[in-house]
Amino acid sequence: MPGADCRETRSACPYCGTGCGVLLRPDGAGGLAVRGDPDHPANRGRLCSKGLALGETLGLEGRLLAPQVNGQETDWDSALDLVAARFRQAVDRHGPDSVGFYLSGQMLTEDYYVANKLMKGFLGSANIDTNSRLCMASTVAGHKRAFGTDTVPGTYDDLDQADLIVLAGSNLAWCHPVLYQRILAAREKRGTKLVVIDPRRTASCDQADMHLKLRAGSDVALFNRLLTGLYEGGALDAEYLQHVEGLGGALEAAFASDASVTGLSDSEIAAFCRIWMGTEKVVTIFSQGVNQSISGTDKVNAILNCHLATGRIGKPGCGPFSVTGQPNAMGGREVGGLANMLACHMDLENRSHRAAVQEFWCAPAMPDRPGLKAVDLFRAAGDGRLKALWIIHTNPAVTMPEADAVRAAIKACDFTVVSDITAATDTARLADVLLPAAAWAEKDGTVTNSDRTISRQRAVLPPPGLARPDWDILADAGRRMGWSAAFDYQSPAQIFREHAVLSGLAGSFGLDFDISGLSRISDSDYESLGPVRWPVSRNRQGGRFFADGQFFHPDGKARMLPVRWRPPASAPDRQYPFRLNTGRIRDQWHTMTRTGRAARLSGHLAEPFADIHPEDARRLGVQPADLLRLSSPSGQAILRARITSDVQPGDLFVPIHWTGETAPSACVDTLVAAAVDPVSGQPESKAAVVAAERWQPAWYGFAVSCRPMAPRSEYWAMARTEAGYRAELAGVSPLADPEAAARDLFAQPEAGVQIMTDSGKGSTRLALFHNGKVMAALFTAPDPVAVSRDYLAGLPGTSAEGVLTGIPAADRPDPGPVVCACFNVGANTILNAIQSGGLVSIADVGTALHAGTNCGSCRPDIAELLARRPFRQAAE
Ligand code: SF4
Repeated sequence: MPGADCRETRSACPYCGTGCGVLLRPDGAGGLAVRGDPDHPANRGRLCSKGLALGETLGLEGRLLAPQVNGQETDWDSALDLVAARFRQAVDRHGPDSVGFYLSGQMLTEDYYVANKLMKGFLGSANIDTNSRLCMASTVAGHKRAFGTDTVPGTYDDLDQADLIVLAGSNLAWCHPVLYQRILAAREKRGTKLVVIDPRRTASCDQADMHLKLRAGSDVALFNRLLTGLYEGGALDAEYLQHVEGLGGALEAAFASDASVTGLSDSEIAAFCRIWMGTEKVVTIFSQGVNQSISGTDKVNAILNCHLATGRIGKPGCGPFSVTGQPNAMGGREVGGLANMLACHMDLENRSHRAAVQEFWCAPAMPDRPGLKAVDLFRAAGDGRLKALWIIHTNPAVTMPEADAVRAAIKACDFTVVSDITAATDTARLADVLLPAAAWAEKDGTVTNSDRTISRQRAVLPPPGLARPDWDILADAGRRMGWSAAFDYQSPAQIFREHAVLSGLAGSFGLDFDISGLSRISDSDYESLGPVRWPVSRNRQGGRFFADGQFFHPDGKARMLPVRWRPPASAPDRQYPFRLNTGRIRDQWHTMTRTGRAARLSGHLAEPFADIHPEDARRLGVQPADLLRLSSPSGQAILRARITSDVQPGDLFVPIHWTGETAPSACVDTLVAAAVDPVSGQPESKAAVVAAERWQPAWYGFAVSCRPMAPRSEYWAMARTEAGYRAELAGVSPLADPEAAARDLFAQPEAGVQIMTDSGKGSTRLALFHNGKVMAALFTAPDPVAVSRDYLAGLPGTSAEGVLTGIPAADRPDPGPVVCACFNVGANTILNAIQSGGLVSIADVGTALHAGTNCGSCRPDIAELLARRPFRQAAE
């Protein structure tokens, strides 16, 4: 096994859709050493900070170790008998559409396959949707409209070969860091140009040749203008257009489009058209900024139109390229794990496809129309139409738009089952039945990344307690519901083979997803299966689609769509004057149930925040470190203000990761309206309207502790540290007795207390000690607390003196907030090295501290620190 030593096992990173290969080596104490797989085609050995910290996220703290029914632990037989009975009962009494599954792009393809088969073939409903609906449903719909099926045309090799890469609605530098570094490497080698289209300045803009800061939701108008520019400039490919229908209509709609809605200047738009038109090899990468919109599908088709019209598709270095957010969103699409899909890219509403799948599964009941998509699924749970709901590996109580209403809907549903690795999620707390699932490093199966590469995920640790893989839980439930033969699965390899055989049926209908070449794979070959890009059939293996101009509509041609700009669902007004954008941060993943466990990942941005433009901050009287209250028609949130011109005046940006477990007042999806794209059903998560005001509490606080804290104040946000935990706090009622509040917060009755009060300033500094060690400390004041947070975060468990000063002692320097999470290097450490070592470049910093030498996603931050140096010559 080249590249791996004999103690290492090949697997796949469970976070983003890049799909990096990892090498795992158990350390014998329940942990894992993790490194990038040099032989995996997606990452060639690289990992980002999240992938590199995987080994730190595996602890058993909070793991769900046994099934629970109504909060009481029980055995599998009792739990699954109950699940089977309640689902069968609901179907018998209220019909198949009274039940639903809500799944996750975190599931393995084999898990997904069994869930889809159980719901669509046996329970008889298409009410199976997934959090991928929030991620890339608009891409699926756009692909199907243009290509006749959901095909990603290109491969990652195209990123190495392109001369121009356009990032549309994608902060690739933070959300798919390894792909971004791959682009930078190509840029270094061949001078690839980079254009970023994003209302916000992101880390992806640092190396960009052009940043088009367009208005939220106006992408259709921009790409329509590009299409007319391509037409007027004589850049259409007449030969390729023989394979495409709809040019006239698409052009007519494009000419009717008004590019001024983008807010970009004529010269910016002209420059974009010039660079696109003048470059033969163009890849347009798009992601959530395009998809999460009420016109997401039209945006996708506006991009595809330009590539189809110019034949810039299916060739090396060319093509539209959707990058998925989740590790196995593509696998979910392949098995048909969405409410409007069947299996293997076959169509639910196509009679022949349906009959073929029904016969293949020997299925008693097949729905002939789409089921409820995510937003409608939870509405049905809330209004009583859904009687039984099974949620697997996802946390809709905080991640769905109008999250407060979704939480109430889950609570109201007659019977809710949650399969997860932890009971400590906002959704799991609402379940009637909790089922302990195996975690990433404990289960076997496959995942498919954004460029159609199927990789094996391998179990290297035993599941703890009674935890089981999802395919096994679902199959067991299916057998208990009465379908023993159909769900008699013994291994994921058996399920993979069945899926591969079924895909051969899709191939026989002339569809793209065909892996029938793997349908006879033996157990041992499945065990050793290396990365393989589909299709894998008799006729074809891997590669790009559409170079030959053959598409999947009945006439074999592609479609250009007439698409027109539509504004977002709500316009800012006097009551809600701000446009709210949401997204990810560099070092966290989704709701932080895993990444939140790694202290170095929490050290980069330890608290939820709202980015606000300086002009807006001035108008609202908001100072740095103030708290902001945001409100919308559906909810409220309190967040730390970050004043920055990265966002445009009138716009706000808030990250998506914080939940009831980590910062209950900062769950951004409470603010987001459940407006959806009419074609894809994808919610508009990046253009809600909100009001913003400075939130003035009676006191602010900062706390550190060696144990989890129990905050009760109106605002709190807690994060892991190497030494324990840190928390930001704020409350509306004055702290009459800070010591009592601290005792309550820290729950450490055995500890002695040191307290310092400044009654003039109204501030208190307090520390708890036990056996000469610092156990906890709390600093409160009427204004945002000014202490050295990263220094204090390292004190619990030490015998440090002078804690109450809140500033570092000479022998304990303050590292500052984490900049390089890969090597855990703080901002102050880098600044000191720059000053004392005379460092002038990112490379110098890398040599001195290793910072920035792995995934590279902190290099813009290092450049910014270098730029603070007055005598600096060059950042690189
Ligand atoms: S880019 Fe990072 S998060 Fe994404 S798959 Fe690779 S290592 Fe994992």
